[in-house]
Amino acid sequence: MADRRPMIAGNWKMHMTTGDAVTFLEGVAAGVNEDTGGEVVICTPYTALSTVAADIEKKNLKIGLGAQNMHWEETGAFTGEISPLMLVDLGLEFVIVGHSERRQLFGETNETVNKKLKAALDHGLKPIFCVGETLSQREAGQTTEVIAAQIKEGLEGIGGDLSERLVIAYEPIWAIGTGKVAEPEDANDVIRHIRALVGSLFGVDTAQKLRIIYGGSVKPDNVAKIMAEPEIDGALVGGACLKPDSFLKLVNY
Ligand code: PEP
Repeated sequence: MADRRPMIAGNWKMHMTTGDAVTFLEGVAAGVNEDTGGEVVICTPYTALSTVAADIEKKNLKIGLGAQNMHWEETGAFTGEISPLMLVDLGLEFVIVGHSERRQLFGETNETVNKKLKAALDHGLKPIFCVGETLSQREAGQTTEVIAAQIKEGLEGIGGDLSERLVIAYEPIWAIGTGKVAEPEDANDVIRHIRALVGSLFGVDTAQKLRIIYGGSVKPDNVAKIMAEPEIDGALVGGACLKPDSFLKLVNY
C-alpha cells in the first residue's frame, strides 16, 4: 500500500474578512508548524488570498493555500469570475473544484467541473475535486453510480499521472454543514470504490498514490476516528475550521 500523506484542508466558504484572516493566522501560528507528517491547507475567499499568502510567508507557516472555485478561461468577458492565471499569479497551490454548494446553488455540472479541472491542471494548480451524493440518491441506492458519473465525466479527457496533482474529496451532500457525519466505515467503503474506479481509469499505481479525503461535518471530536480508516487520507472541513483552537485540534488530531 502506498504511503499517502494525510491532508487536513479547511474550506472557509464565505467567511472571514482580511482582518479576521490575519487574526486567525495569529491564533494558529504557534500550533500549525508542529510536524505531524501531514499537509495543512486553507481555502479562503478570493478577497483574503493575497493577505493570507503574504502572512503565511511572513510568519513562515506550513500552510498550503487554495481558492474555492475558478473559471476555466484565462481571460475574457466573464464578469465576476476569477481565472486560473489569476490564482497562479497569487502563488496558490490548490483550488477546490465542484464543491456541492457550487453544484447545487450555482448550477455547476460535471461538464463545467471537467473544464475547470482541465484548466486547473494545465496551469499547475492542484484541484481538490469534490464528489458526493444527495440523501435521496443515497436512499435510492445510487451512491456508487452517482459518484462514478461525477468522476468519469469530471476527469474526461484528462491524462498523465494525477497522483501528485489531484486530490479527490468525497463529500456526501447530506453530511455537509448538517452535523450528520457519515459513519467512518461507510465513508471508507465509498472511498475504496472511488479508488478502484480511479484504478480502472488511470492505473492501480496512480490510484494507490492518489489522496482521497472525506468531508462532511468533520469536527475535533470525530476527526481521529475518520482518519483511522485506511482508505481515508484526510479531511475537507468547513464549519469547524474557522476558529483557531478547533482548527489546531483538527490539524493535530
Ligand atoms: C465543506 O464545506 O466542504 C464541508 C465539509 O463543510 P462542513 O465541514 O461544515 O460540513
